[in-house]
Amino acid sequence: MNIKVGSGYDVHKLVSGRKLILGGVEIPFELGLLGHSDADVLLHAIADALLGALALGDIGLHFPDTDEANKDLDSKILLGKVYDLVRENGYKLNNLDATIVMQRPKLRPQIKMMRKNISAILDSPIENISIKATTSERLGFVGREEGVEAFATVLLIRDNA
Ligand code: MG
Repeated sequence: MNIKVGSGYDVHKLVSGRKLILGGVEIPFELGLLGHSDADVLLHAIADALLGALALGDIGLHFPDTDEANKDLDSKILLGKVYDLVRENGYKLNNLDATIVMQRPKLRPQIKMMRKNISAILDSPIENISIKATTSERLGFVGREEGVEAFATVLLIRDNA
């Protein structure tokens, strides 16, 4: 088989006094995501899906939060390094589909920019990059605005070029 599927999931806590960065885009909001890196929950889920497709572990293994070098790390750099690993293993992205689950704010205005950022990092046309957003209908920790979840699925294809 020349195709590999991978799935990723991540969650970060919403707190005051932190920036809200999703898909490499800073979103104007009174709360932001807490984490050792910039806490970009969407890019983390995508990175884990890429690693998962090739059974290369997870981002906790490759970028441990005990390593000071990863403090406040720009997750665009993290995703780029993960994609380098994908390429070194002879694969490239076919397409990805991801969902951000967040109660507020509405993310529609920033979705295109997120797709552009990810398209550039993963060297793939924007048509291959699907980013969706939904709420949790006020249920659970997402509904109480305590955190944000992201899910990602990727399809990789072998690339011997
Ligand atoms: Mg994370």
